[in-house]
Amino acid sequence: MKIFNTLTRRKDEFVPIEEGKVRMYVCGPTVYNYIHIGNARPMIVFDTVRRYFEYKGYDVNYVSNFTDVDDKIIKKANEEGVDASVISERFIKEAQKDMADMNVKEATHHPKATEEIDGMIDMIQTLINKGHAYAVDGTVYFKTRSFKDYGKLSKKNIDDLEAGHREIKVNGEEGKEDPLDFVLWKPKKEGEPSWPSPWGDGRPGWHIECSVMSKKYLGEQIDIHAGGEDLIFPHHENEIAQSEACNDKEFAHYWMHNGFLNINNVKMSKSLGNFFTVREIAEKYDLQVLRFFMLSAHYRSPLNFSAELMEASRNGLERILTAVDRLRTLNVQGEACTEEENEQMKVFDALVAKYEAAMEDDFNTADAISAIFEMVKAANIHVTETSTAAFRDQILSEIVRLCDVLGIKTEKKEELLDDEIQALIDERQAARKAKNFARADEIRDELLAKGIILKDTREGVKWSRAQNPLVHGFANFIIWTSRMSGNILP
Ligand code: AMP
Ligand code: ZN
Repeated sequence: MKIFNTLTRRKDEFVPIEEGKVRMYVCGPTVYNYIHIGNARPMIVFDTVRRYFEYKGYDVNYVSNFTDVDDKIIKKANEEGVDASVISERFIKEAQKDMADMNVKEATHHPKATEEIDGMIDMIQTLINKGHAYAVDGTVYFKTRSFKDYGKLSKKNIDDLEAGHREIKVNGEEGKEDPLDFVLWKPKKEGEPSWPSPWGDGRPGWHIECSVMSKKYLGEQIDIHAGGEDLIFPHHENEIAQSEACNDKEFAHYWMHNGFLNINNVKMSKSLGNFFTVREIAEKYDLQVLRFFMLSAHYRSPLNFSAELMEASRNGLERILTAVDRLRTLNVQGEACTEEENEQMKVFDALVAKYEAAMEDDFNTADAISAIFEMVKAANIHVTETSTAAFRDQILSEIVRLCDVLGIKTEKKEELLDDEIQALIDERQAARKAKNFARADEIRDELLAKGIILKDTREGVKWSRAQNPLVHGFANFIIWTSRMSGNILP
């Protein structure tokens, strides 16, 4: 299996530290808001990497943290007049809901930074004892030049970095010995969460959190460390410096980074304000469609989010689900495969091999999905009422298995029954009579989301099933995307 390693800038053959096992750490979100679809990209792609390792028989210890102490969380808490933990706990729960809806498996461990402060204090103390860090007036800095390999991940030259930093002086960091040094522990400020430490009350810097949580749950050396490409510098570079200076061992063997998700070809980020939360997308689309969309591109390529591509993903996914549904309900008979079926089976085996080859080549999910499409096409042709159950079952289970590795669920969503629709329409009429228009609109939207269109006529409310339940989401979506480009439709 080949993995593109940011450390070597080439595809390296994967060799685990311990046979049959993978130790993997993925930097998780800072929880001060709902997660946006950019945050969803690493969650989906690295969950797929994990699932593929499991498919190959590896036992994966998958750790992904929540950063629950940070300036942005504190700012939001102050705005709402609540404790920072109220904000972080709220958005951890919301992130977990979104992750479950995107079929992202629960991590083996989901550590929270605030629950690992003791380990951070220990690592910082070790770094001080080894001459890699120093404390000044309650702040502890990492002595960047003391780590000779600094820059090896981001390929930055330390002297160039120094030149770029020379003029920059940040308030409160006057005690820094070298502009390249970065903060491991910062002193308490009024109204901020803090913990006691040998250097006074304060809180940890962001980078030390991941070095510590990774060490605690995975050990001093891990196989894979992953995150979005924006984390290469300084976050991951600093993690390497801290962990390797502390443990005297190479930290992670493979560094994987996903490309950015853009909107209208502009980087999507909270600071630019051009982002969609996963929750907003869930109002219009089944999150399986979002997952399928993310996997239809290679994880290292930039990916542009657009209504057209979401539509294409919805259609592609529908094609697979419809084929699986047909196979499940097909009226077949006969136990053992016929000679002819055994011959045809070779076509399917070759496609499974094609799928695996794509995944083994740095997780090329786009090509893996093409192999699934070819299987679906072949199944539509070769599996019919005259096929044996054995043949159908093998092909069905193979397609379902390969979809499952991508985290794609193959069961069709339950449709609303006619009686249920009528009951909701009656409830809506009652709500209108009672002038509860909010509830009436809510029911109409709920039905619309399930592809049921209401029409008020003189004879009463009539309803129909939309051919394409997501068409309505699509219409709204166009309005959203134009909102993003400042080009609002009339
Ligand atoms: P943050 O909450 O900003 O620390 O981000 C959590 C994870 O989401 C990190 O791995 C980021 O690199 C990743 N991420 C943030 N924005 C995007 C984006 N627009 N596209 C892809 N990944 C992103
Ligand atoms: Zn991290």
